[in-house]
Amino acid sequence: MPIIQQLTTQLGTEKVLLGEAISKRYHHIWYMHIPLKAKAVIVPTSTEDVATTLQICYEHGQEVVVHGGLTNLVGSTQSTENQIIISTEKLNTIQEVDVNSRTMTVQAGVILEQIQQSAKANDLQFPLNFGAKGSAQIGGIIATNAGGLRVLKYGMTRQQILGLEVVLADGTVLSNLKKIIKDNSGYDLKQLFIGSEGTLGVVTRAVLRLNEMPKSRCSAWVGIDGYKNVVAFLKYMDRGLGGTLSAYELVWQDTFQTMTGETSTTKPPLPLDYQYYVLTESLGSDQSRDAATFQSLLESALEKGLIKDGVVADNSTDLRWFWQIREDVRVLSAIADHDHHFDISLPIPLIGQYVEDARAELQKIPEVKEIFNFGHVADGNIHFIIGKKNDSAELTKRINDIVYEKIAAVNGSVSAEHGIGLDKKAYLHHSRSKAEIELMKTIKRTLDTKNILNPGRIIDL
Ligand SMILES: Cc1cc2nc3c(=O)[nH]c(=O)nc-3n(C[C@H](O)[C@H](O)[C@H](O)COP(=O)(O)OP(=O)(O)OC[C@H]3O[C@@H](n4cnc5c(N)ncnc54)[C@H](O)[C@@H]3O)c2cc1C
Repeated sequence: MPIIQQLTTQLGTEKVLLGEAISKRYHHIWYMHIPLKAKAVIVPTSTEDVATTLQICYEHGQEVVVHGGLTNLVGSTQSTENQIIISTEKLNTIQEVDVNSRTMTVQAGVILEQIQQSAKANDLQFPLNFGAKGSAQIGGIIATNAGGLRVLKYGMTRQQILGLEVVLADGTVLSNLKKIIKDNSGYDLKQLFIGSEGTLGVVTRAVLRLNEMPKSRCSAWVGIDGYKNVVAFLKYMDRGLGGTLSAYELVWQDTFQTMTGETSTTKPPLPLDYQYYVLTESLGSDQSRDAATFQSLLESALEKGLIKDGVVADNSTDLRWFWQIREDVRVLSAIADHDHHFDISLPIPLIGQYVEDARAELQKIPEVKEIFNFGHVADGNIHFIIGKKNDSAELTKRINDIVYEKIAAVNGSVSAEHGIGLDKKAYLHHSRSKAEIELMKTIKRTLDTKNILNPGRIIDL
């Protein structure tokens, strides 16, 4: 039986989108004007639907691309007319919040912001947070091992997942939805799927680890001159706050000027002539005591000359304002034509010089218009957004070579959090040895013998 007929027979026509229903869709939230290319889009409502779809696709050797919230930054949700999409948008149920185990069991299509709100309604917290929280789904977040703004305190997605259910390429369901933190009974298989970008299995459900909701939140923007002071102030705050430092976000001067400039809806909280700007945050248990500690640390950092200036958020309006400046990176990508994104990581002390050298090289290229730098510096993770005059393959390669070439020498990574997808495959060898890449291929061949699941992402077989 032809594959589409088999899918519609077994799943029902309402779950198999064809023709015009496909071209109304898109492959990324930033490219809604470009119609999606696909043979069919499957919209499962249960794990069983995903298993049925993959069994049929596996039987036919049919390539499949998984769609979550479509916010990835590495081209991984693009497809061709011959591929079938599995979209997790209707796997969107929060199945349980267990306040005593401090867990939430969710289907893959639940959006991050809904998870945050549901945890909050139970006086708990799901700490993952980043700019795409209104669209990114937990399945995509798990598949990319997303990081974000509070990794410093809580870790990446990997640290927030207690249980996982995935469907393998041949339709086998691997379900381990335990609520326990410790489980050393053999290999920790869930970790294989976290960060594998949908190449090894489709995530259908997960048990998330929640924390007690912090009772205090203090944030400040500070101005700093000299990269060595960026590092010194980080150590100073971490030591002084005794474990409550939860964010330390660095923005370079020209990027901060744009983030708070005329095309932005936010105004600057500080003068615009410092070399670096840091947004720092602590999450604690007593607002008035923690605010006093936070304020006095900043005052003594100013006296010691670690920072040049600082402004503390006084109320919830200030908090929203301060964080919007950092989170709304659309202000940057809207200015940067043919925007080119990087999320490298390297040892914290080396970042200042690395970025300075890379910028000097990039500025020599006449087709490079803007270079924006910001990032999760306490995680060793820095972003570049580069605006260009065109999108030619030659220019893209030239820019990539500058940013990635010295990564191996500093023992860094070409991707701290966005993943490899289709866009960074050619640069994986800067981060991973030949033996590691060979092992990745062996794992992929073992779990997906026909190479049907998200083929060509991360590695080519
Ligand atoms: C404004 C903005 C800010 C961002 N900030 C950050 C940040 O700070 N930190 C960060 O880490 N990322 C960030 N990102 C990148 C992006 O949000 C993350 O990669 C996110 O985790 C992707 O989730 P998604 O649901 O949109 O996945 P998608 O983009 O739909 O998919 C991503 C990958 O996962 C696969 N996939 C999706 N769902 C599943 C599933 N159920 N099972 C298996 N595979 C699946 C897809 O095939 C694809 O390979 C940002 C993106 C934007 C647009």
